[in-house]
Amino acid sequence: MATIAEAIASASERLSGSSDSPLLDAQLLMSHVLKRERPWLLAHGDAELPRSEYEHFRRLAKRRGEGVPVAYLIQSAGFYGREFTVHSGVLVPRPETEHLVERALAEIDRLAAGDALRVLDIGTGSGAIAVTVACERPSVSVVATDRSSDALQLARTNAVRHGVAERVTLLAGELHEAAAVHAPFDLVLANLPYVPTGDLPQMPESAAYEPRLALDGGSDGLALYRRLLPALPNMLRAGGVVLMEAAPPTIDGLAALARDAFAGADVEIVVDYGGRARVVCVLTREPGSASRSSTTQSEPSSSHA
Ligand code: GLN
Repeated sequence: MATIAEAIASASERLSGSSDSPLLDAQLLMSHVLKRERPWLLAHGDAELPRSEYEHFRRLAKRRGEGVPVAYLIQSAGFYGREFTVHSGVLVPRPETEHLVERALAEIDRLAAGDALRVLDIGTGSGAIAVTVACERPSVSVVATDRSSDALQLARTNAVRHGVAERVTLLAGELHEAAAVHAPFDLVLANLPYVPTGDLPQMPESAAYEPRLALDGGSDGLALYRRLLPALPNMLRAGGVVLMEAAPPTIDGLAALARDAFAGADVEIVVDYGGRARVVCVLTREPGSASRSSTTQSEPSSSHA
């Protein structure tokens, strides 16, 4: 048998070959097994672990060693300061997607002028983006779509968990289709699968446990965005905004698709905190307004690839 601290230390050591954050992983697993916060674990490191908890912890640590994402093992992932319930039917929310949320909140504040805005989140998965936006801006209503009914059920769980279920409408369907009857929207958000099929084998081991459908963007990574974009101008009000997540090198192609779909709009590529081009931002114009392109910064993605 072992104490809490010993079990964490030995799991952390064993995970060091397969994880970038072995100690944190071991602590999160222990915290899940003992149903205690991490600071409690640190304060009670000398306590002996009961056998059943010890064995549960060892089983989870072994699964983690095989590459299973911690989030799936503990059915929880942190995103923008909140915990989201997750399972292996959805992508684990990524820290880089917080950047899309940050920009979405800034656009909501710019567009709002006291109005109740309508936001569409396409391919919501766990609902992390839709629920976060609804939590952070209590005046918006969000429509979120997904083709997976498992994902929608989970998104509902998360909307209820964070007290925003009455402002987040969840619809089953391909891309934007189910949401067309709710148009026009002020803001459209999408984190569609954008990894080129040929790059999937080079992804971190943990991605092999995630739904391929949530990552695979077809041969050039843009298959889904290419289907979506022509439909968006009809779903957005004049002056509305579209934010789409992607990554170099495909993000330049996504910006080009956006320019084709939205003639006359300003299309920017926004760089994330890690210095990677991450979000394509489409700013459409109100009738009669001038281009904003002289005042907005468009970063070339190639220098950040
Ligand atoms: N950012 C994710 C990753 O690399 C990809 C997410 C997506 O395809 N939408 O790992």
